[in-house]
Amino acid sequence: MFGPPPMGKPRGIEPLTETADFRADDDGCFVAASLSCPWCLSWDVGWKLREGGGYDAHATCRCGECGREREVFLTPEQELRLALQEERPLDTRPRSSDGLLAY
Ligand SMILES: [Zn+2]
Repeated sequence: MFGPPPMGKPRGIEPLTETADFRADDDGCFVAASLSCPWCLSWDVGWKLREGGGYDAHATCRCGECGREREVFLTPEQELRLALQEERPLDTRPRSSDGLLAY
């Protein structure tokens, strides 16, 4: 027989590493979706590229909704894309030419 579940906060398995999965030439909506918060699914995520770059490129992402932070590893191309977006916010509107809009 199984007893009642243990009391207290359940412990989840935290990922050891997370890698971004957008392409360098993806629309902003795909970049934002890739960096969205895995806990609350918010797109309101700010990022800061970390020093070092190169083959160890990563960004610290902070969720604007729940406040959680995480490190996301990037390819050099993804790092360049985010560096270009630091001064210019992502345009998260999907382009109709991408076939995302069916009507
Ligand atoms: Zn969140």
